[in-house]
Amino acid sequence: MGKTSDLIKKRIEHAGGRYWAGDNISSFLHEGDKEALVEELTRKFEGVLDSLVIDRANDPNSNDTPRRLAKMYINELMSGRYDNKPNATAFPNHTNDRYDGMLVVRSELRSMCSHHHQPVVGVAYIGILAADKLIGLSKYTRIAQWCARRGTLQEELNMVIADEIQKATGAESLGVYVQATHGCCENRGIGAHSSLTQTTVLRGAFNTDPSTKKEFFDNIKLQQEFAPR
Ligand SMILES: [Zn+2]
Repeated sequence: MGKTSDLIKKRIEHAGGRYWAGDNISSFLHEGDKEALVEELTRKFEGVLDSLVIDRANDPNSNDTPRRLAKMYINELMSGRYDNKPNATAFPNHTNDRYDGMLVVRSELRSMCSHHHQPVVGVAYIGILAADKLIGLSKYTRIAQWCARRGTLQEELNMVIADEIQKATGAESLGVYVQATHGCCENRGIGAHSSLTQTTVLRGAFNTDPSTKKEFFDNIKLQQEFAPR
């Protein structure tokens, strides 16, 4: 039998799908595949440590590192590639007592850049003008975190969060503002400690109506005063 990763790739290619670092491939996984991937990856990380000339046999801190890394990648760092989208049951926004204001949710994010596999740590402010559907407040964060737990670029992540929130809420007008620090700027290269990157996606009224846009950014400022980072 072939490697699990090869079987999964064949399924994706057969369906004309894509498996970039930021893509969710959960619909192509079968029962037990995640566990098999952890096994496969453990062997690969053993090879990585060997090529780094680290004595896995005698260094007690490195004994189980290949398995720890394998589990961390599949179950944590990149779980948003292998796990199904979080359930976000939508409730009707009734016409008689309809909420038609703006809603802004602050979601903490942990992600990883697909260039260097370094941590991206930050926060997303997700704003929508309520449409016909409402989802539970915690679902915004669950969806944003599911999008973030992959290999991404911040620009790409910002757009993927916007797309998924639009799908879940049906909102046409939405703004997503992300600010994050990047391990690849802090730990290597320019070694800049305070490198904070900001990206914004604005759609519908958030893009075309100046007062909606202003209300969104005013709300973000209020949130930042309440929970600064
Ligand atoms: Zn990077």
